[in-house]
Amino acid sequence: MIEIIKTWTTQNDAEEMEFLEDFQKRQESGNWVSYLNGKSVCEISLEDGTHIRSIFEEDGIYRPENLECADVHLSDKCEVGCKFCYANCTRDGKVADIERFISSPWFQSLKPGMEMACNLNEFKGNIDHLEKLLDACKEKGILANVTVEQRTYMKNKEVLHCFQIEGKLFGIGVSVKVIDEYLLKDLEECRNVVAHTITGITPVTGYQKLIANKVKILILGYKDIGRGTQFKVEDESNKIEMNRLALKRYIKFLLDTKVSCLLSFDNLAIDQLGIKDMISEENYGKFFRGEEATCTYFVNAVSMQYALNSLDSENLKSIENKTSQEILKLVRREGGHE
Ligand code: SF4
Repeated sequence: MIEIIKTWTTQNDAEEMEFLEDFQKRQESGNWVSYLNGKSVCEISLEDGTHIRSIFEEDGIYRPENLECADVHLSDKCEVGCKFCYANCTRDGKVADIERFISSPWFQSLKPGMEMACNLNEFKGNIDHLEKLLDACKEKGILANVTVEQRTYMKNKEVLHCFQIEGKLFGIGVSVKVIDEYLLKDLEECRNVVAHTITGITPVTGYQKLIANKVKILILGYKDIGRGTQFKVEDESNKIEMNRLALKRYIKFLLDTKVSCLLSFDNLAIDQLGIKDMISEENYGKFFRGEEATCTYFVNAVSMQYALNSLDSENLKSIENKTSQEILKLVRREGGHE
């Protein structure tokens, strides 16, 4: 789970020495996974998901050869039926063929140390499938994260936590809807669990409860695709916009008053909430993971297709017979990064 990103460029001997000393300390602690990606070193803390990316390029531009994180959609099936669901999930939706996915050249070419964010929604009856995928990830040294919706999490949390203890599941994302005391107690106590909220949907009162209980939060942007488009059209009282503005003010308040909390954002939420204008340029450079499609892309394992990101999921192309590195090159070119 990504909480903090530190990106810096080392261009002189003193900075390189400082990096080597810190790197060695982290390695000796045994709590970090690291790998070389092009001319950069990526490190991930197994304790809290912190990312450190050190770029050893003269111009400071990150040129990864391998995928850093894949955003993988594993199921169109979900019984919750949210009216704003951008993925158009339904109770009759299809789930990915895990055997086919695991044996694909794409999966087989993934490198150790990378992360896979698996969006599973609800997985009634799919535990065996999930375990098969997690076992395959563990075998390849991939750090697998899973996102599930709240009710599914509460029903299956023991199984998910067992997967964490067995070292096959790294982080758990819970898409929260009703923030009650049971959920809060659970999220506060569990290791590497992050509450996922949506800009414009989760009210500020929800954030207040999560922060008061020291829950880690990932704020996602509102996706105006799939059912999200119609839901916005039908929002006559402008609730989505009012929630967005209230959240923006609340984040400004948290920053101004230095309230201790662990917030992270996807790129869409960064845009929708104007986060760049709220923090210094230096901090933004330190914590911003990068433009979409630089080192990540979206994979729909149900249809075996890829796109630049999940927002671009209406522009999917087949992944059949392509390696993850070949697709990264295509995506970087399409995204204007090559
Ligand atoms: S819980 Fe998530 S996947 Fe399920 S309907 Fe709601 S938004 Fe869609």
